[in-house]
Amino acid sequence: MTQRSTPYPDLILYNGKIRSLAPSGAVYESLACAGGRIVAVGKSDDIRKLSGPDTQQIDLKKRTAIPGLTDTHVHLAEKGTAEKELVDCRDFYTEVHSIPEILERLKKRASELPKGTWVVAHGSPMQDFRLKDKRFPNRNDLDRVLPDYPVSISFGAHITVGNSKALALAGITRDTPDPAGGAIRRDPQGGEPTGELHERAQLILRKVMPEFNYLQLKNGIVFALDQCLERGVTTIHDIVRSGEPVRAYQGLFREGKLHARVSLLPRVIESHIGSRSLIELGLATGFGNEWLRIGGVKMSIDGGITGRNACFYEPYEDDPSNCGIIRIPQDELNDTVLKCHQAGLRCCVHAIGDRAFDMALDAYETALQKLPRKDHRHRIEHMGNWLSTPERMERIVRSGIVAIPNISIGYYVGDAILDCLGERRMTKSFPFRTLLKNGVIIAGGSDAPGYWPVDPLRDIAACVSRKMRWGEVLVPEERISVAEAFAMHTTTAAFAGFEEAYKGTLEVGKLADIAVLAEDPFEIPGERIKDIKVDLTIVGGEVKYQA
Ligand SMILES: [Zn+2]
Repeated sequence: MTQRSTPYPDLILYNGKIRSLAPSGAVYESLACAGGRIVAVGKSDDIRKLSGPDTQQIDLKKRTAIPGLTDTHVHLAEKGTAEKELVDCRDFYTEVHSIPEILERLKKRASELPKGTWVVAHGSPMQDFRLKDKRFPNRNDLDRVLPDYPVSISFGAHITVGNSKALALAGITRDTPDPAGGAIRRDPQGGEPTGELHERAQLILRKVMPEFNYLQLKNGIVFALDQCLERGVTTIHDIVRSGEPVRAYQGLFREGKLHARVSLLPRVIESHIGSRSLIELGLATGFGNEWLRIGGVKMSIDGGITGRNACFYEPYEDDPSNCGIIRIPQDELNDTVLKCHQAGLRCCVHAIGDRAFDMALDAYETALQKLPRKDHRHRIEHMGNWLSTPERMERIVRSGIVAIPNISIGYYVGDAILDCLGERRMTKSFPFRTLLKNGVIIAGGSDAPGYWPVDPLRDIAACVSRKMRWGEVLVPEERISVAEAFAMHTTTAAFAGFEEAYKGTLEVGKLADIAVLAEDPFEIPGERIKDIKVDLTIVGGEVKYQA
């Protein structure tokens, strides 16, 4: 934090429409920031009188300012770095729409590398659904173009495909058993692995693949945080699964290059971070400072929906033998949740299928019975996307759990999910109106970047209009208001970060984290909110992005 040497504000915004997004609904013309916080709000003339010789003044020219936005569920360090380092085959970002086009890109990268070097690529989740070939590439496809390089390509977080060289390095053969919580896909005729690895089976390959180093991670984080700032995002909750990204974040903070605020959610279980590591160090939620802090721990009960590995009671519509994968048995889950709960570490449990929802609720209820505590703010990641039955809503409200739904998943791949879950399970998908009416606390998380960009304005537009990228208006009766959708990324998101005392609204005493928008989202059709340009992003009273 900058040391205050004068009694004057550092920055004044004036002649604007400053929407506080506080419950009062207050709108101001002007505000003043000092020492990273908002120190005064009011009429332009009154606030400008406070300025001193070094005060920077910005004329908003009637534009709208809102609190800086928060994305409560991202994989920023990991995916931001992947975006810089890996071969890009993602169809939401590139013109890759067939297996031959993927192979072309892999071949091009390999041509720049000595034989035997890893060629690592990433595609988009559920890309099999959209590729012309209507399937993922397999080891034979990859072998055909790159027999001399180990190749790995992931499609979302839950499926990775390796070629024969890669499988050989990892020691995966027809005799390798499926690991618990994972699956090695095999050729139905000969039983040979096809190269496609699901969930925990990916870890066998990952063990022999090169990891991103400290410098790559630092560059990747800066790159990805800049993209966040471009969309008015000033806080992210980042899921990390090893110490290296945490070191990279600390390095950036020390060097004054951490331009947005980061709440770390270290992943325990299926991670390089042991489930007891934070507890042993005595690190509880909130440790750190206003820029970089521990937000809690993350763990994943079931697989991902995009790999058809989320765990449901009933099988997938397009795969009647598959109900998904449970990655953490109930005993281990209950034990880990209880230990973290006792240690003051908020848990963020990923659950996508209905069987996983019930396991998460069971684990929280068991922990809360043993040690009742009101302000725990435990979360269920991805709950609120579908299958929010009255019974589940009642349980989640009774236990005071925060749900983190992801409209971005519906926006980008809702059509593919509809195909694999079926109409019935999707009838009430993303039922935000119903969730709010029943008192469920919901904050917005995008699961970006990598799959798609971090962009709460896009997600807010989808919540308000229900218009999805693939064309459909999804369950229009579950629309919520612009104010309610913004709350998911401002006030409620601040609550989900234990930071509502100093974040989420533009009021005196709060952090000066502000986004200046080219248009007023409250005065244009909901669908267009996603197209709003962010002109200026201010973090801690300093301009960190300018269009
Ligand atoms: Zn995630």
